[in-house]
Amino acid sequence: MNAPTEINETHRVQFPQLDVPPRLLLGPGPSNAHPRVLQALTMRQVGHLDPCFIQLMNEIQTLLRYAWQTDNPLTIPVSGAGSAAMEATLANTVEPGDVVLVGVKGYFGHRLVDMAGRYGADVRKMMKPWGQVFSLEEIRENLETHRPAILALVHAETSTGARQPLEDVGELCREYNCLLLVDTVTSLGGVPLFLDRWGVDMAYSCSQKGLGCPPGISPLTLSPRAVEKLHRRKTTVPNWYLDMSLVSKYWGDERTYHHTAPINMSYALREALRLVAEEGLAERWQRHQDNVELLWQGLEDLGLTCHVEKEYRLPTLTTVRIPEGVDGKAVARQLLDEYNIEIAGGLGELGGKVWRIGLMGFNSRRENVVVLLEALDRVLQ
Ligand code: PLP
Repeated sequence: MNAPTEINETHRVQFPQLDVPPRLLLGPGPSNAHPRVLQALTMRQVGHLDPCFIQLMNEIQTLLRYAWQTDNPLTIPVSGAGSAAMEATLANTVEPGDVVLVGVKGYFGHRLVDMAGRYGADVRKMMKPWGQVFSLEEIRENLETHRPAILALVHAETSTGARQPLEDVGELCREYNCLLLVDTVTSLGGVPLFLDRWGVDMAYSCSQKGLGCPPGISPLTLSPRAVEKLHRRKTTVPNWYLDMSLVSKYWGDERTYHHTAPINMSYALREALRLVAEEGLAERWQRHQDNVELLWQGLEDLGLTCHVEKEYRLPTLTTVRIPEGVDGKAVARQLLDEYNIEIAGGLGELGGKVWRIGLMGFNSRRENVVVLLEALDRVLQ
């Protein structure tokens, strides 16, 4: 081989070894991963078709079904961010011209609209002010008007901190012969969720919030009804990477290579899910509720107001109104610089109006609530 005559050395920079500050991540996610999850992440690698990895894949599927309370055979983690799992639900089930009705009451409803449109859906929106939720009656009226093939709702709207009640929505969807798609990114592992009981056909989530794992691998589940729609497609799934008719062959009996699975992230997710099963869902949901109530009380004691009505507030994400005359960005920056605590500002319509405080997964702990309230008190003085 001829040696290259000239190597461009411009980008050959000797950066120092990586060091990061010990942040307490109390924003909308990612939240800090459980130490056991981080330990699992560093375990030695095996191949993605190794018998021991295949067993681990099965274990992840089982534990995901527990966390989501579903028996759906097609329950897998997508290799990618929550947005990849979100896109997978639409890419697989939307065919050009399908009417997709999206409940928009925050930033992530808009993302669903954007994505569904890109897959050729005839997108219809039902709108609500940011921070509110849809009543069953409003959903029924919209199903009646639009007769969609798919109804998409965000269970836990991270931009507003509101929890969309889902009980009975699945039954309505069956009455109107449509599939129910639910975003559970900020609810899985922290907020009560009963996918099968509530008749949810498609759901996606992420690893970095209620499951207490780093980001990069994202749960997805499709009910037999949704899989049937996928199999009935007249057109191929327009996204190769997220095509579940291909990916599911790797996760099913065939174990056919599709793309290389994120081995170490799978170890991490398995450990995160093992922790969910170890704690038990009822206990875990209660822990999130107890800690957030402590937070709400503390915020009220500081003279602050939550944006969402108590009944619909999420236990995982709280939006707090920034008081008149207070520089919200400066407060968040001071919490980060002086206390190593991350909280976030508002998104979209709520930009500059609220702070977003997350208590998710491993981070939903009493001591974190106390530390944050103390720091916030000092910064606001
Ligand atoms: N949906 C909701 C409700 C979210 O909060 C997020 C991220 O915060 C997403 C979807 C997208 O997830 P990701 O950022 O992991 O792609």
